Amino acid sequence: MRQALNYIDGKWCGEGTKKNRNSPLTGQPFSAAVYASVADVNLAVIAARRAQASWAALPIGQRCEYVTGLATALRKRYGAAGEETELKRIIREEVGKPLPEADIEVLETGDFIEYFARIAPDVLSEEKPELNRELWPTKTSTIVHEPYGVVAIVKPWNYPLEMIGWALPPALLAGNTVVIKPSEKSPITALTYAEAAAEAGLPSGVLNIVLGDGSVGRELIAHPGVDYVSFTGSRAVGKEIAQTCAPIFRPCSLELSGNDVALVLEDADPSWVSHGLVWGAFCNAGQVCVGIKRVFVPAKYLEVYKTEIGKLVDGLVIGRDVGPIVDESQLNTFMKTLQRLRSEGAEFFRGGNRLDRPGLFVEPTVAVVKRGSLVHQEEVFGPLLPISTYEQVDEIIKDIASADYALGASVWTPNLDRGTEIARKLDVGMVWINDVNVAFAEAPWPARRQSGMGFSLSKDSIRAYTRPKHISVDTDISKPRFWWYPYK
Ligand code: NAD
Repeated sequence: MRQALNYIDGKWCGEGTKKNRNSPLTGQPFSAAVYASVADVNLAVIAARRAQASWAALPIGQRCEYVTGLATALRKRYGAAGEETELKRIIREEVGKPLPEADIEVLETGDFIEYFARIAPDVLSEEKPELNRELWPTKTSTIVHEPYGVVAIVKPWNYPLEMIGWALPPALLAGNTVVIKPSEKSPITALTYAEAAAEAGLPSGVLNIVLGDGSVGRELIAHPGVDYVSFTGSRAVGKEIAQTCAPIFRPCSLELSGNDVALVLEDADPSWVSHGLVWGAFCNAGQVCVGIKRVFVPAKYLEVYKTEIGKLVDGLVIGRDVGPIVDESQLNTFMKTLQRLRSEGAEFFRGGNRLDRPGLFVEPTVAVVKRGSLVHQEEVFGPLLPISTYEQVDEIIKDIASADYALGASVWTPNLDRGTEIARKLDVGMVWINDVNVAFAEAPWPARRQSGMGFSLSKDSIRAYTRPKHISVDTDISKPRFWWYPYK
């Protein structure tokens, strides 16, 4: 079994309650993690606070070198595409990802970190806005982007390396120090960052990792020494964090659950589009915030799509293409959802059963569901592709606008003008045309409504870890200003 210790102030800390976890892939014991105590969380925040001023005082070029060192450490662990390195094996066994999914996660994370380090000097440089010279002939303004201080990074398990990798580099580059609380389902993957920090020679206290479940996350977020919270996870936990932060005006970014629509237009090619729909629904066994969770096809083509999708699903190899559900509790929730769908009258035409083999595998499931089905209201985390039909595209645009979740959506059509026109009308944070679930370092990953506030990625995400300060200088000290007393 792999041992997971807390990483505080540059040291591995091994005291405390241990929690064991089985691999969802093999069903065998996988890890034993030492959960952080209240005292550990306190020590981690104190260490981050102590290290912050000197970290922020480093020239930006030096912080970039340290952060690039993190990317280099990940690159070493990438190997080649399709090669099962130690890190990819950990991701596979810890959360159950098929190898190509572990592959892309490691590769992408390294790339994104390098991107942030490349652009940070420019993004964080001071600005001198041009003032109205007629009004302010003797004044100058300087805007500086200062770090918050100590950032709490609390992240989910479903992209165990990447979710941390979207928040950590911008936070550090901006001059913050961090305390990371990874998911209790993926501590071993997350500790790669502690190893990488040691390899890159990051000063002690700049990057700390405390392990544990929601209670450790709750302790960290409420800690008086935390200045900013970067959270990704479920809507329910996001709400609780918002409630903790609001009364003390602690800024937070909350990137939450989704229930994304795939809107297939009449002119789409069913055999091509079905490949995208099947991948979008079953990648990471459907446990993806922007996975396809509601498919709408033109009513007259329903049978064609059922046939095409059915053929592709029949060709999926469990384990190779579709991984397991992350834990027993999530699997039970998923099976109950399928049961509720059956009672609702959904027509299951593929899957629907747990598989009798080691690991937590469920058949990839495809069902025709009515508009307004329970799966159109709730986020389902599991391998389900629910298909519904429509007559008019505008009905679906309205459905999307009235749903609680508003993370992403995809539109499938060879008519790119029409696709773009629809994308502009959709009230969500992101729209992919003829693809789904692709992240770019250069473009933001934003959400709307109950899918959260704040965003990751893009140059603006570095600024999000800073507070602007305005310094206004007046060079005229020869006479009182005309707007000072006495009034005439
Ligand atoms: P989760 O909300 O259960 O847990 C997320 C993290 O919060 C974990 O580290 C957990 O230990 C911690 N946590 C739990 N309770 C807490 C509390 N009360 N206070 C502080 N921290 C607490 O989510 P999960 O099951 O790990 O991840 C799946 C969810 O994340 C899905 O809803 C998915 O859509 C969402 N997600 C969203 C995005 C996005 O970009 N919007 C990306 C990935 C995942």
